Amino acid sequence: MTDTRIPNPNFYANSGLDRVSHLRDEAEWLAARLGDPHSRLVPVWRAHNLFRPLAAPDQQPEPMLPTVEQLGSLANGTAHVVLLGLVDEVAHFALDLSHLEDPTQASALVGGGEFVDLRRYGPLIGHQAGAILAYARGILHWHSRHRFCGVCGAPTVSAQAGHVRQCTNPDCKAQHFPRTDPAVIMLVTDGDRCLLGRQAVWLPGMHSTLAGFVEPGESFEEAVAREVFEESGIRVRNVRYHSSQPWPFPASIMIGFHAEATTTEIDVDQSELEAAHWFTREWLLNSPENDHFRLPRRDSIARRLVESWLGRD
Ligand SMILES: [Zn+2]
Repeated sequence: MTDTRIPNPNFYANSGLDRVSHLRDEAEWLAARLGDPHSRLVPVWRAHNLFRPLAAPDQQPEPMLPTVEQLGSLANGTAHVVLLGLVDEVAHFALDLSHLEDPTQASALVGGGEFVDLRRYGPLIGHQAGAILAYARGILHWHSRHRFCGVCGAPTVSAQAGHVRQCTNPDCKAQHFPRTDPAVIMLVTDGDRCLLGRQAVWLPGMHSTLAGFVEPGESFEEAVAREVFEESGIRVRNVRYHSSQPWPFPASIMIGFHAEATTTEIDVDQSELEAAHWFTREWLLNSPENDHFRLPRRDSIARRLVESWLGRD
């Protein structure tokens, strides 16, 4: 496989999976992988992933990826599966248990464990496991929202190992592909200070970079400039790409930038932000995180953009 891993990737990126898109049409190969006792299943129940129950609150959370050998009949049954790819030649399938009424029923089917929102554990789990769980959750969310054809309204069915939904209307036959919505996220700087804002619904004291969805017919750079101006009244130039982060909560990819302010007077759009302020590098480096001020979570690209600018990355 091609090693696409980069040094210091963002969390939820770089799953280590070879997505083997050329094999998604190979029915025999797929059936063999689903019957292979070593293949692994990534159970998802209504956007929640499966973890071993914590024995103590400070224990490190551990995802559960049962093998086909452990769950055999389930993988070959009627439950919906999506081929995620191969890790060291071992096939991984997302297993959708969302049709079950409650998580304990789903848990019983997969041999125990707890269904938890991945964002609750985030960076506490291994990087590669976090990326695989996020991918499983994201693609099953797409399936759940595309059960009917957007062209003619007929039901769709999963095809190509779960990477296409095919319209069942013979007069339509439209194919629908998994969606990822691009959002830009940017740290705006003015010399030795940077712009951070907060939304009223966030944790007390949390301040973060500005962000927003890319609109049709718009480049990422244009979206950065537009969003920054809309939210804060600041104009920017020299928009420079930093890195990207899959954010399938439920269906985004964050494209991260640094940008230089050309104006400094803040005019906050109160419908988007509660406040926005300039923070100096020195203040951020020396400020304890508490209910008066805190940076975003460590698994977010927002945090990475700030840490990178601070030189702590
Ligand atoms: Zn259709």
